[in-house]
Amino acid sequence: MRLNNKIAIVTGAAAGIGAAAARRFAREGAVVYGGDLAYTEPGTDSEGVRTRPLDVSLLDDWARLAEEILTEHGGVDVLVNNAGVVGSYDSVTDVEIDHWHEIIAVNQHGVFYGMRSAIPLMRRRGSGSIVNISSIWGLVGAAGVAAYQASKGAVTLMTKNAAVTYAPEGIRVNSIHPGLITTPMTDAQDPAISQALVDTTPLGRAGRAEEVANAVLFLASDEASYITGAQLVVDGGFTTP
Ligand code: NAD
Repeated sequence: MRLNNKIAIVTGAAAGIGAAAARRFAREGAVVYGGDLAYTEPGTDSEGVRTRPLDVSLLDDWARLAEEILTEHGGVDVLVNNAGVVGSYDSVTDVEIDHWHEIIAVNQHGVFYGMRSAIPLMRRRGSGSIVNISSIWGLVGAAGVAAYQASKGAVTLMTKNAAVTYAPEGIRVNSIHPGLITTPMTDAQDPAISQALVDTTPLGRAGRAEEVANAVLFLASDEASYITGAQLVVDGGFTTP
């Protein structure tokens, strides 16, 4: 029970990495609020995750969730900003302007709104752990993919900014940088892109959502009590050479 009695929020909890993390958290003793666009009304899933409608790009949605958790628990211990969209692989000169704004709204503003909503609730506890899901594409360049890289690069530095800002209040903030992970997101992309990534990944395969959830769990838990501002790469060695 590595998260016993902790109150946690996991965004993008209906599928992929977020679903694996939310369910693992519940098995480790946390009270988990899983937010996702895919949930149309509040409920509870088979693992006990409290499922809540949430569009991370809407501040009003965050306010509603924060109010519910404040009323029920008086604070929050863990936030996992996982919800994200990859969108087009277009370059700076080709990307549609509306599409650019859409990707930034979810991947970058969503993380900002999440931290802005949860940190006041962590202050009430005098501690907290935030895990922001960036990407290998928030660390190194990939041709095209302009909007996604901009958003994930922002998440990398927003994490470090919050880490140094809120460390005096006992709030830790770290980022995770997955490589190719098999989820509905990557199932939807051109298989040739996934194969090219596998071919250049030293471990020679895609990762599983549960393998990222293990890393999220570690950073969320008190086992990582002296870790803040870190970039934890979970990529089978992709960014190593
Ligand atoms: P996924 O598409 O399989 O699942 C994402 C979930 O987020 C879905 O349930 C979706 O409904 C939800 N979501 C999307 N937009 C939302 C919004 N505005 N508000 C709330 N929920 C929203 O994705 P995944 O592969 O599990 O990716 C999870 C995170 O990991 C993303 O931030 C992604 O960028 C990042 N990531 C994934 C990979 C990979 O290879 N799968 C690699 C690096 C980083």
